[in-house]
Amino acid sequence: MIALKTKDQIDRIRESCRLLARMFHEIEPMVQAGMTTLELDRWAENFIRSHGGKPAFKGYQGFPGTLCTSINQEVIHGIPKNKKIVEGDLVSLDCGIDLKGFFSDMAVTFVVGEVTSEEKLLVEVTRQSLDAGIVAAQPGARVRDISNAVTSVVKPHRFGIVHQYCGHGVGFSQHEDPQVPNAVALGTSPRIVPGMVLAIEPMINLGKAEVRVLSDDWTVVTVDGKKSAHFEHTIAILEESSEVLTRED
Ligand code: MG
Ligand code: MG
Repeated sequence: MIALKTKDQIDRIRESCRLLARMFHEIEPMVQAGMTTLELDRWAENFIRSHGGKPAFKGYQGFPGTLCTSINQEVIHGIPKNKKIVEGDLVSLDCGIDLKGFFSDMAVTFVVGEVTSEEKLLVEVTRQSLDAGIVAAQPGARVRDISNAVTSVVKPHRFGIVHQYCGHGVGFSQHEDPQVPNAVALGTSPRIVPGMVLAIEPMINLGKAEVRVLSDDWTVVTVDGKKSAHFEHTIAILEESSEVLTRED
């Protein structure tokens, strides 16, 4: 069931989203060679708690971190650890905040130092595919139109579009209906209507689309070992337009 949000509820979700966008803004300069993902995680947890929020991922189905930290061939759900980031890494951070019962979700892939031109392109195309998905998410369209928009940006580059994991509704909890696939799927697709709050999150691989879960039961990696990128915004569907909520004031 898709839980629609009132204007007041969207206002509350926007507050959660803005705090999250600020967290990403402030953590960006710390995503550097020599820093560990555990240090980033601790900083993020402290930031969120000191602003009256709760790290929404921590404890969610037993996940141990505030951030999902996924490096290089890790796609999503990487566990923060005491391992240093090095030059040339693609570092994907994913985070959600529960601010007084209202949930946000956002992810960014950071480029650390010099990477290959192909990897740079992967990150840029993934960001563009999210932008295209956001533009497609208008009242009256269907969720499938988001998937189509993401696919049309990525396909000419022959990168792999992860289909085993999806975007989703968000706001009253971390994961709600509907699913928002990145690759175009068969079957019916919900109409996008005012009051929906959606997390759109393309995960794009340099190589093939296939992914698998490591023995830690969390970390999702590419099967071919090639690098991956991930961007996510939480958006609200309004009467005649949509709004990206995970942006700073
Ligand atoms: Mg996320
Ligand atoms: Mg999400």
